[in-house]
Amino acid sequence: MLEEALLLVVAFCGVAMLILAKQYHDYLRFSDEKSKSRYFISSALIITIMVILITVTWFPALLVLLSIFLLFVLFCATFSIVLLNQLRFKCSKEEEREVNGVKFTVCYGAPLNAWYNHCKKRVFISDRLLDVLNDQEIKAVYYHEEGHKVYHVILHASSLVARLWLLVISTLLATYLGHVLGLINVSLPVFLFILGISILLTCLFAFLTVFWSWINEHEADVYASRKANPSSLISALIKHCVHECLESEEVLLRNLNVTLDTSQISSSVKEYGFGSVFKLLLKTSVQKTFDVLGFLEAFKRPLPPTHPPLGLRIYKILNASSR
Ligand SMILES: [Zn+2]
Repeated sequence: MLEEALLLVVAFCGVAMLILAKQYHDYLRFSDEKSKSRYFISSALIITIMVILITVTWFPALLVLLSIFLLFVLFCATFSIVLLNQLRFKCSKEEEREVNGVKFTVCYGAPLNAWYNHCKKRVFISDRLLDVLNDQEIKAVYYHEEGHKVYHVILHASSLVARLWLLVISTLLATYLGHVLGLINVSLPVFLFILGISILLTCLFAFLTVFWSWINEHEADVYASRKANPSSLISALIKHCVHECLESEEVLLRNLNVTLDTSQISSSVKEYGFGSVFKLLLKTSVQKTFDVLGFLEAFKRPLPPTHPPLGLRIYKILNASSR
């Protein structure tokens, strides 16, 4: 009986992941507004079936308090991370600037980044990022951030899924901790069955969270590549990636005026087939689920990676701008 139920959940997770990977792969190559409504339908269906499965197989009466407590701690951890980030991104000085017809705020003293401030309704770009970008690249970065505001439906969907992800991992951690603390009085096979199902469903939800947050980033990239020059956006992304790497090696280069020739970039980016997209999403989700089981990681970095790998971003920008 337990084996059959486990097989059923494995089959459900497998089919759901294949559907999401197929939708993401199609999205990378071509997408229209109609296909986006399909993402909402499939995600809503997956979440509904997951809720039914958790209710049927899990023992909420035993663990509901522990789960709520962990959820509360996780929300506090996420909130603290957001607060710490806001402190990191606090500007020692702000200055209004206009470059190539776009107006933004220069944030002095913040890390190498750009962001849209929803309270001030302005795009902020750090002085360190401005130091390494040319005017066309600044314009492209500005429109990427504006894209997050324009595609707010995708942004809200992605943050809703990320919140639900916290609920899912607190359920998984409660199951795990409930056993360690002796709160679950079930036989070992039944416990392993509950744990197995929790891990499978967490992997699936990580898959869904990654799917939405990566599409959120791609949408902002597509918007920017329509409003500005796609090759400027690609060179800005490459420069950001290179300088982040240099910063992690404690090399801070300022006022470095390098021009990248991205005219041949399409031959340098690999063609993403369905198999490689599926493997990438699966690897990211499984890795996050097992990181979370290490507890400390769940509180240090609760969310799966919000940005797709650079190769995928360039691949989508090239596909979107060739049409
Ligand atoms: Zn973004």
